[in-house]
Amino acid sequence: MESGPDHNSRTALVTGGASGIGRACVRALAAAGAKVHIVDRAGPAAEELADEVDGVAHVVDLADAAFVDALPTEVDVLINNAGLQHVAPLHEFPPDRFDLIQRVMVTAPFLLIRRVVPHMYAREWGRIVNISSVHGLRASAFKAAYVTAKHALEGLSKVAAVEGAPHGVTSNCVSPGYVRTPLVADQIAAQSRAHGVEAEEVVEQVLLDRSPIKRLVEPEDVAATVLWLCGPHTANVTGSSIPVDGGWTAN
Ligand code: NAD
Repeated sequence: MESGPDHNSRTALVTGGASGIGRACVRALAAAGAKVHIVDRAGPAAEELADEVDGVAHVVDLADAAFVDALPTEVDVLINNAGLQHVAPLHEFPPDRFDLIQRVMVTAPFLLIRRVVPHMYAREWGRIVNISSVHGLRASAFKAAYVTAKHALEGLSKVAAVEGAPHGVTSNCVSPGYVRTPLVADQIAAQSRAHGVEAEEVVEQVLLDRSPIKRLVEPEDVAATVLWLCGPHTANVTGSSIPVDGGWTAN
């Protein structure tokens, strides 16, 4: 049996919580009884979701390191989820977009982990879940910044796992394939332009080309894996990366 606070005494923080996978995580954690802090730059959507789940919205830009000072330190469950994509060949990749993606998807998770682990260590219990991607494990053309950031996040997650182990804190990545969210809708349009094919062909022939299961993952599927990592029976699951990818990385 695992010791630690029950769901109702837990506080969770989800970055990028106003949309897609993050929103599904907020709903799943709130339904399990946690008090959820929703961190997003999309103010109206964050406020609306906070009202729905009786949570707290924090409207901040994760690209600006000062954001972290506005957030709580007493967090038991940290979900580093916010992310963005930019699709371009390396020789045309805008350096400012590369830098932005590292700040939001690597530096912000680092700043949040270092902010909340003292509380987790004091309670001798904590769960860090980093929403990585199959692109934390594999590369694809035209995604230099995203693949770089997700590989970095996988490394950061492992360090948090090693350091957190004596304190009852686990850290894992959940690494989805293509999930039905606004981020992917944008990518379908971008890939359509990059590969010169129709949008509907992008899903089957580009996005799911390597995937034995020809179906987009749903945000709720990812959130269920996140919730499992935050529940009982996972005290020994740490430093891992769990693909939720329809077999993409196996193929
Ligand atoms: P989404 O675009 O639906 O949601 C991302 C959220 O992050 C948005 O609410 C956005 O406002 C917020 N955000 C982005 N930049 C921010 C910033 N600078 N400051 C504050 N908030 C910011 O995306 P999603 O598909 O739900 O993706 C969530 C995570 O899952 C990302 O890390 C993404 O890389 C990862 N992921 C997504 C897929 C997929 O297919 N959708 C697959 C693998 C991994």
